[in-house]
Amino acid sequence: MSKRDYYEVLGVSQDASGDEIKSAYRKLAFKYHPDRNPDDPEAEAHFKEAAEAYEVLRDAEKRQRYDQFGHDGVNGNGFNGFSNTDDIFGAFSDIFGEVFGFSSARGGANRPRPGADLRYNLQVSFREAAKGAEVDIQLPVEDICPDCNGSGAAEGSTPQTCPQCGGMGSVQQSQGFFRISVPCPHCRGAGKIITDPCSSCRGTGIVHRVKDLKVRIPAGVDNNSRLRLRGEGEPGFNGGPPGDLYVVIQVEPDEVFERQGQNLILRREVSFVEATLGHKVEVETLDEPVTLDVPKGTQSGEVFRLRGLGLPHLGSAHQGDLLIEVRVKTPVGLNKRQEELLREFAEIEESKLSTKAKNFFRKAKDKVMGE
Ligand SMILES: [Zn+2]
Ligand SMILES: [Zn+2]
Repeated sequence: MSKRDYYEVLGVSQDASGDEIKSAYRKLAFKYHPDRNPDDPEAEAHFKEAAEAYEVLRDAEKRQRYDQFGHDGVNGNGFNGFSNTDDIFGAFSDIFGEVFGFSSARGGANRPRPGADLRYNLQVSFREAAKGAEVDIQLPVEDICPDCNGSGAAEGSTPQTCPQCGGMGSVQQSQGFFRISVPCPHCRGAGKIITDPCSSCRGTGIVHRVKDLKVRIPAGVDNNSRLRLRGEGEPGFNGGPPGDLYVVIQVEPDEVFERQGQNLILRREVSFVEATLGHKVEVETLDEPVTLDVPKGTQSGEVFRLRGLGLPHLGSAHQGDLLIEVRVKTPVGLNKRQEELLREFAEIEESKLSTKAKNFFRKAKDKVMGE
């Protein structure tokens, strides 16, 4: 079955803002909400379709992939739509909790919920980014308390079901036509009351620790490249899956090379004699130094390209180039003999010029006389 375009599903334009997308989804979710359309498979299909579109378009990264590659860009990437409506209430609890209130409490506080994604900023050296590396990071994480298995209750005791909300974690309030659910004030939405808190986690069910992780940096990463480590985010709730960890790369500048996309730029000084007469110079690359043939008569600022000695493109075999910009150094601290030679050099240059000029005038004169 072919899928409808997500923008079409939500009835928004391709350049709709996040708020427009959210509000469009709210309207559809309201219209096709199972509570308002009981036993209506068509409404349920619309409800799921809208949720799938919203799931993709609300996330900048997924939206970009979708814009670029269509459904193929987002399906199979850990997301295959929603198989049941409870998943939808779980995924968009913000919308269903705040706006509708009504079905967010399905399954209540005990509903499995995924853990949050985490971000870790990682600074790597220029060479690590260029060549790829494996870096150890220490990630501060929250773990489910091993002593109480996350219940928060001390050993031998069990959390009591909240008498006010009956374990739902939320209570219903009427507001005009709607039933609005708000977090239960008695248990603060937990659905349970802990009478004897676990001493290891002080009743929170969560302990803090530092996790050692190895991050493989692929060659060619640049500033703000994001690496996703699946399942290394915060733990899920009530058996929900853990979130992901996003490692965001910052690359330190290098003393030798400058980066321009996948190309490397290197500035190399040569003496004016080398530039004038031509010379072979040794230049640094990311690997072994190579010999660059600076041809006779090279001007300051000329750029030589060494193909394939730049940075790799992420996820492809293609390499950028190394661009060497030659700078001609003016000699200083000349001794007498060198100055003499240069003066002589200058005189010859001058006489060359005046000979040229003379020839030019003679030709011009001949031409005039010949006519
Ligand atoms: Zn505990
Ligand atoms: Zn309660």
